Amino acid sequence: MSEGTILLVEDHDEIAELIRFYLEREGFTLVHATSGEEGLELLAHRKPRAVLLDLGLPGMDGIEVARIIRSRSDVPIVMLTARDSETDTIIGLEVGADDYVTKPFSPREVVARIQAVLRRSEDRPVHKDVCSIAGFTVDSGRREVVTPSGETVRPTAREFDLLWYLCDHAGLVLSRSQILEAVWGYDYFGETRTVDVHVRQLRKKLDGFPIETIWGVGYKVEPS
Ligand code: CA
Repeated sequence: MSEGTILLVEDHDEIAELIRFYLEREGFTLVHATSGEEGLELLAHRKPRAVLLDLGLPGMDGIEVARIIRSRSDVPIVMLTARDSETDTIIGLEVGADDYVTKPFSPREVVARIQAVLRRSEDRPVHKDVCSIAGFTVDSGRREVVTPSGETVRPTAREFDLLWYLCDHAGLVLSRSQILEAVWGYDYFGETRTVDVHVRQLRKKLDGFPIETIWGVGYKVEPS
């Protein structure tokens, strides 16, 4: 049985063929674009379950592609980034990518990340609960937040999952690895920086929301 279609946007043919081999072996169908423009076209026509997106592309760069994808779709995005491009990685997560793999990578790791984002996005429970903290209303049915001044904020899918997990465990200190495992759905190869970047985004979007940094451990939301 087919595991569904994955869109790979990668201008390097050898890397693309390597990824194709491993994904097809796991039952996925791969569609391959060599530019961002072509990738966006395939996204619209082939409706992939997830996108593997190289950041170093000729023409429109991967960050721009991620931004455009996110403005149109909630499809999980895993970025392929160069080891020395930490800034790109952070910007990529900020524009709504779900995860990243650093080049040079093992193809097995790429497959595992894809499977993890798919599991996570498709197991996402539909809660009907609402959580009220410091004047903010976090609505897990609508997946949005109403601020104390009445403004509605819609975080990205992953940011919301993180926010909900923190709110659902208000008053508890949560370690970064605990958060990674619960929100991203994997433990041993997750990088804790991913959590930090998403927390930073939430703080930016929800000014005054009480996510406390617990030094050397992780994060905590103060219940109210
Ligand atoms: Ca490239």
